[in-house]
Amino acid sequence: MPSTSTSTAPRARILTGDTPSGKLHIGHWVGSLENRARLQDAYECYFLIANLHAFTTRADQPSEIARDTLEILKDWLAAGIDPERATVVVQSEVPAITELTWHLSMLLPFNRVMRNPTLKDELDVKGLGDKYSFGFPLYAVGQCADILTFRPALVPVGEDQLAHIEMCREVARRFNHTYCGVDPATPDAEHVAAGGLLPIPEGLVGRVGRLVGVDGTQKMSKSLGNAIYLTDTTAQIKKKVAQIYTGRVDTNAPGDTNNALFQYVRSFITDPARVAELEDRYRRGDAIGDGHVKVEVAAAIDALLAPMRERRARFDAPGREDILHDIIRTHSARANTAAAETLGRVREAMKLRFVR
Ligand code: ATP
Ligand code: MG
Repeated sequence: MPSTSTSTAPRARILTGDTPSGKLHIGHWVGSLENRARLQDAYECYFLIANLHAFTTRADQPSEIARDTLEILKDWLAAGIDPERATVVVQSEVPAITELTWHLSMLLPFNRVMRNPTLKDELDVKGLGDKYSFGFPLYAVGQCADILTFRPALVPVGEDQLAHIEMCREVARRFNHTYCGVDPATPDAEHVAAGGLLPIPEGLVGRVGRLVGVDGTQKMSKSLGNAIYLTDTTAQIKKKVAQIYTGRVDTNAPGDTNNALFQYVRSFITDPARVAELEDRYRRGDAIGDGHVKVEVAAAIDALLAPMRERRARFDAPGREDILHDIIRTHSARANTAAAETLGRVREAMKLRFVR
């Protein structure tokens, strides 16, 4: 008789998320969001809005962070995250994450955290100089806790997050060794079978790991003013795509298809034959100007975003905020159940269970 066990076996988990430091952009889509939407059925998904982490750089802006938390949720729903299938985790509603941050911070050497290249880049790119808060670097440890609280197998992220995932894998191994007696030589995939509480999660980078911003140099980022947002109108998309700098002037001179504009061509024009044709003509300088390519890129991005704008309009309508709060309320209960299970076991492993 065919076995039915696969249909009832628990699905592996996904955990990933975004900081509410602004609205989501097309870099989020190609880097992570697209994978999230695609994997909702195959995995038990937890998507986290890291609102506590937004305080690392905006502690004086609680209203803006609260507003952006709802904006991110609307962006997710617009992008096809289905609240019937995935669980939305608002970080501040799950106190277990904060407790785990404390425990993990003892397992990571200070200098190891400060050497994290993503953290260093952020300090630099966001111009934080030496004025950043004590809590700023702590967010990197917090992100390990966000992930490990939900004990996922997979973390869909953009390329810039891989350094964080590596640190998360490192601290999970150390936890399993220190508190669960797992031999440090144990292969990652066997940690749980060897008695470890925390699976060693894998990062899953999207189709485009690092989409460049319309400035043509920096990573597209919600804090850098170089982004095409999921909410942008057709006119805004055209205007922003027109800004992408290539440095090319002569439409009959051979062009370099490694430039920012062609990253957009490959990322958003869906017909591979058309992409190949544009690349070929551009390389040969076959009477094809940036302006022409930009028109096609803008149209392709608009076609991707049009259905998202339409879905989002339903949540932007007056009086619809209740729906968002309902989702957060019911999902927080679900998230807290999963988090409490991990934290109960963490406390047990760390001999912190005094009241039984
Ligand atoms: P901030 O400027 O506040 O850091 P951000 O735009 O970098 O914002 P995050 O919230 O830090 O966005 O990132 C959320 C997820 O989206 C992460 O997995 C990140 O790797 C991915 N991501 C962000 N920007 C890009 C991009 N330009 N290309 C690909 N993936 C991206
Ligand atoms: Mg970022």
